[in-house]
Amino acid sequence: MSPMNRLLGTAAPSETSILAVDRIACTGHGICAHILSGAIDLDDWGYPILRDAAPDPGVAAEAIKLCPSRALRWQRR
Ligand code: SF4
Repeated sequence: MSPMNRLLGTAAPSETSILAVDRIACTGHGICAHILSGAIDLDDWGYPILRDAAPDPGVAAEAIKLCPSRALRWQRR
């Protein structure tokens, strides 16, 4: 795992990783909820509500990659 991937939270998750949203960085585009439907819902303002912090890693990786604000990431529990 490269230090940059670890820093950005884009590295592949370990068994102790959970998906997290940086609420300061998030701009409420809602792309994550479309990709991870079932794991992420949107509130009335379009901001994500994480329902499942351990979704399918492959699908989550796609959501992390496409988040325009880099607000979605893996972090240690
Ligand atoms: S895609 Fe990123 S910026 Fe958009 S709602 Fe999800 S976490 Fe926030």
